[in-house]
Amino acid sequence: MQFDRQAFEAVISQYPVFEYQFIETAELSFQPRVRIICERECERYGKTWACPPAVGSLKECESACRVYTRGLFFSTVAEVLDVLNMEEGLATRREHERITQDLGDYLAAQGLEVFILSTESCDICRKCTYPDGPCRHPDQMHPCLESHGIVVSDLVENHQMTYQLGGNTLLWFSLILFREV
Ligand code: SF4
Repeated sequence: MQFDRQAFEAVISQYPVFEYQFIETAELSFQPRVRIICERECERYGKTWACPPAVGSLKECESACRVYTRGLFFSTVAEVLDVLNMEEGLATRREHERITQDLGDYLAAQGLEVFILSTESCDICRKCTYPDGPCRHPDQMHPCLESHGIVVSDLVENHQMTYQLGGNTLLWFSLILFREV
């Protein structure tokens, strides 16, 4: 099925998406330094199926992404009372995740094959099954962009998008890779 950009733009315009761009998968770079930050600085490292090392080696992540030809890279804005309050900030990503899932579902329903990378780690289940059992919701679990070594700020800059708005706002980013089959 061919991607119908016009129809998709009519759909995405119904969502509170702040900015979006279509990208070519070929332009993505997969940086070991991002994975090093995951390992050294993120408390979610090794805690869910959506994080390294469960997502596979950097090479495996790159190969998984390169199967797809194009991607929709987009952001949404959340307002918080205190941008330094991690818990409050993380609570706002649910709406972003819902929009990400909806847009991915729409593309899949059009006959495209999709692979979604989103924000932070997965918190769908109160307690993740990792590493003892398989993921309970593999179709809803989306690894974060960083888990695949993607430098979000580079992607933002390359496409003249906004990385920060300042004030009491947060920007969340997702990348929905897709290909025509
Ligand atoms: S859906 Fe549940 S089991 Fe799967 S990664 Fe997320 S929290 Fe873990």
